[in-house]
Amino acid sequence: MTIGIMGAMHDEIAELIGLFAEPGQSSVHRVGLRDFYVGQLEGQDCVVVLAGIGKVAAASTASSLIHRFGVSQIVFAGLAGGLADHARVGDVVIADRLVQHDMDCRPLFPRYEIPLTGNTEFHVSATLAAQLHSASRDFFSRHITERISGADMERFGLQSPQAHVGMIVSGDQFIGSAQAAAQLRAELPQACAVEMEGAAVAQVCHEYGIPCAIIRTISDRADATAHVDFSQFLSSVASQYSNGIVRNYLAAMARDAGPV
Ligand code: SAH
Repeated sequence: MTIGIMGAMHDEIAELIGLFAEPGQSSVHRVGLRDFYVGQLEGQDCVVVLAGIGKVAAASTASSLIHRFGVSQIVFAGLAGGLADHARVGDVVIADRLVQHDMDCRPLFPRYEIPLTGNTEFHVSATLAAQLHSASRDFFSRHITERISGADMERFGLQSPQAHVGMIVSGDQFIGSAQAAAQLRAELPQACAVEMEGAAVAQVCHEYGIPCAIIRTISDRADATAHVDFSQFLSSVASQYSNGIVRNYLAAMARDAGPV
């Protein structure tokens, strides 16, 4: 079994890619302007790739992972803006379902419905989501203080980060004003977090019958300070979160598969 791991921005998965730096441990394949790192992490076969930002970049990369690299599941690890009150900076949200919040083909189809599919929400694998949830809790209870400095923990208020499960919404827009965030909350009251790729990956995986899971660290509150909070969080902590949580997840997957 090979697991595909995607991130949108370099800092989100830089530490994971860095683990492939050992000579002879991995190979790099360039397909469609993306570098796919193929190797083993935590004893688990995987392919790690920087997908780029937005739904098209994410969808085409997910398709390459499935068709060129034969992955049997995809995990996307990245950042998001918090929409629900409880989704605070430094928490993580694991998707149970995803919606493309900018899909609007009215009056031909209901709002948010992906035309000709009948789908408005894409549900992701409950099993993988539960495993990511447990990998996140493990990271918070055992690894976070080793990986993130006390100064950064304080600066971002990371005293007791939480792992939530809920709806994630995606669209080709950075949500960075109180007004835009309020509008999304009003239109999609169940949305826990907003980002720019997850629902596209969920659609591709749904269409090809590949289980997927989306995990997002909340970097900002999708309001007027979002771009500042987002940039600082990206450079200071994003990579550490993805690295810690994804490695816990891969180690558990390799353990579950047992010795070969
Ligand atoms: N301005 C940035 C790009 C930010 S895009 C730059 O120049 O580098 C934001 C990335 O983080 C996307 O991959 C998206 O999925 C996620 N994200 C984090 N906060 C977000 C928000 N408030 N709205 C939308 N996407 C967000």
